Amino acid sequence: MGETKPEIIIENGRPVIKCPHCGRNTPLDSVICVKCGRVVRRVTGKLPFDTWKCHICGEERPDERISVVTKPLVINGQTVGDQNIRYCNDRPACIEGAKEFSFFKEVMK
Ligand SMILES: [Zn+2]
Ligand SMILES: [Zn+2]
Repeated sequence: MGETKPEIIIENGRPVIKCPHCGRNTPLDSVICVKCGRVVRRVTGKLPFDTWKCHICGEERPDERISVVTKPLVINGQTVGDQNIRYCNDRPACIEGAKEFSFFKEVMK
């Protein structure tokens, strides 16, 4: 009830929140609008612009550019769990790299 979903737009290369009450652009980390003083986003929860580190190239990328592949984590021939590998879904090198990547590299004799 009454929950506002702020619109995020890019202004001068920086993401800003468009105040749903008065339409003023206010910095992304604002909780209240700089103009009207009303709440533009809820304090709890994650920031609307999440970034993730690509495990392949090591760069921080925005959420929509990062995909995750889940692989079994195999140590000494035993599957001990899953590993989630993040990679840039718009970079062929990272997509290819994710296929080979593992957090635990088995030592080949
Ligand atoms: Zn406002
Ligand atoms: Zn990458």
